[in-house]
Amino acid sequence: MENPLLLERGLPDFAAIDPAHVEPAIRKVLAEQRSKLQQAESDTQPAFAWALSLERMQDAVRRVWAPIVHLNSVCSTPELRDAYNSCLPLITDFWLEYGQSEKLYEGFEHLQQNAVGRTGAETKLIDEALKDLRLAGVALNPERRRRFRELTQQLTAKQAKFEQNLMDATDAFRLHETRSEALTGLPAQLLERARQAAKKDGLDGWLLFLDPPTYTTVMAQAEAEALRRSYYEAWVTRASDQGPHAGRWDNAALIEDILALRHESAQLLGFSSFAQLSLATKMAVSPVQVLGFLQDLAAKSRGVAETELVELEAHAGRRLQAWDLAFYSERLKRERFELSAEELRPFFPLPRVLEGLFRVAGQLFKVRIVQHETLGPWHPTVAYYEILDSAGRLIGGIFTDMYARPNKRGGAWMDEALTRARLPDFEQLPVAHLVCNFSPPTSDAPCLLTHDEVVTLFHEFGHALQHLLTEIDFPSIAGINGVPWDAVELPSQFFENYAWLPEVLPWISGHHRSGETMPRQKLATLKASRSFQAGLAMMRQLEFALFDFRLHAEYDPRQGARVEALLAEIRAEVSLIETPSFNRFAATFSHIFGGGYAAGYYSYKWAEVLAADAFSAFEEAGGFCAATAERFRRCVLASGGSRDALEAFVEFRGRPPSLDPLLRQSGIAA
Ligand code: ZN
Repeated sequence: MENPLLLERGLPDFAAIDPAHVEPAIRKVLAEQRSKLQQAESDTQPAFAWALSLERMQDAVRRVWAPIVHLNSVCSTPELRDAYNSCLPLITDFWLEYGQSEKLYEGFEHLQQNAVGRTGAETKLIDEALKDLRLAGVALNPERRRRFRELTQQLTAKQAKFEQNLMDATDAFRLHETRSEALTGLPAQLLERARQAAKKDGLDGWLLFLDPPTYTTVMAQAEAEALRRSYYEAWVTRASDQGPHAGRWDNAALIEDILALRHESAQLLGFSSFAQLSLATKMAVSPVQVLGFLQDLAAKSRGVAETELVELEAHAGRRLQAWDLAFYSERLKRERFELSAEELRPFFPLPRVLEGLFRVAGQLFKVRIVQHETLGPWHPTVAYYEILDSAGRLIGGIFTDMYARPNKRGGAWMDEALTRARLPDFEQLPVAHLVCNFSPPTSDAPCLLTHDEVVTLFHEFGHALQHLLTEIDFPSIAGINGVPWDAVELPSQFFENYAWLPEVLPWISGHHRSGETMPRQKLATLKASRSFQAGLAMMRQLEFALFDFRLHAEYDPRQGARVEALLAEIRAEVSLIETPSFNRFAATFSHIFGGGYAAGYYSYKWAEVLAADAFSAFEEAGGFCAATAERFRRCVLASGGSRDALEAFVEFRGRPPSLDPLLRQSGIAA
């Protein structure tokens, strides 16, 4: 039988991939690419084509590994997870071998020294490659290099385990309820799903889970404080020593280990802390700059946030607990704007939202997005779309996997299924994965979104736009690759703005039964509600960002992580509401302990400044101004990692980024 993972080109037949395919495919591709690596290492005076053969090699490994990572995130099984875990060290080892190859380093240095006639993208590819090699420890002596490999291996395994603990802890939670009054306030759609779940398990009443849409709905809608408190407790104690599964999947020791490993790795590479190392691939230049940026935002937002809390507590008529905030916010919002998240849901059926979203992208960037058949998707609810340019030429593809289900990682994300490449003998168009965790359709209604969820969808689609509209031929700097991490959230947060535009709302809304678009009055209030409690939301994000950054910047092996102590310090500075002592937020913070955002969570705020400023150019010129859109596409989306991010921004905006549009847009400054 052929192994569906072993493809030279194109997308795999996801449905045909079995856990038994995983390890043989990985071993085979790594053996092949190892021998190519040795060949490449024997070329001591390489020409630029040599660098492109390495691009091809990287793509060859990624095309086998990416579907495994993807499936492990969206439909994990114990067998698949085992296969994933057993291949993780093999993959890590290969990249370390690659990253620590002195011969490759010498090859790229040779290219850098012989740069005559090279394009900007070619130069950037070489610079990025040299940086990556240095950050993989190529310049270390053999003993330190070996130690660096050990640390990386351990770190990779522990980060994966952190994520798996969190997924298991989330999936394990169940709340069985037979008294309907305990569930007052929950929307009919959620209750119907809960009733069906109970029935399926042979139970009376309702069975609720801890998937993200259920959690957020309970927190915002449940009248019974006891229910909100149970949910809050379950959510903030996942994978910890507290809460309903105390100790069962405790991430505390992993957090200590991960921080120690990161710190030692950073020091081996000559950085004083992991925060310093993290900034080596970002726009921000120093920890002082990052902390200054966050503290400045906190100082500017604090007053507004305090006023918001006073209003909220006055509305509730009492001091609020952590599990009350979302509920009373929602109630106050309803009262002030005559608008509720649940009331709007019927106006945002997912198919309609997608149609409108595609129209926005079409209008801005002259593309057309149409649904298309594809080879076996991994789940029956997955759809595939093609994106075409104005002449009807294919640009790329998008998979959408929209619904929450067990064994699927929470949250929403965009990932690369294939990355654009135009190399000698090899061409490939980009394909994106767009993954969300919305409530699935019920027997009598399609998937209905809150407006927050609509914004999430626009956000992830903004990432997909950068991935798909890239015009760079070299995968390592195409799309989101090679973009400094703190600029990666620029296209996504930029695109969120379109979910709020008055001219767009009629495109993305239409009542799922009557088809009527959202009443004019509701549109206006929805828009007015955008800055509702922006100060509190800002302070919450700053708490996370400060915690992440200081945790990595101040880590001292003699003291350990000091997670709870540091959190207490930061909360004293920026949190306006008391955090219950059982809260174990850090154990659930997979952004930073599961990978990517370590000492980089500030990137959301950093890029939000860029995004708001970029969008303000459209506010000045018109939301669909063709010339502005063309410039945005060229400077930001198309060029990806092929040029300096700040330079590209300045070319688009005509000046360096400014903080003001964000403060204005979020209503924090007048
Ligand atoms: Zn994002």
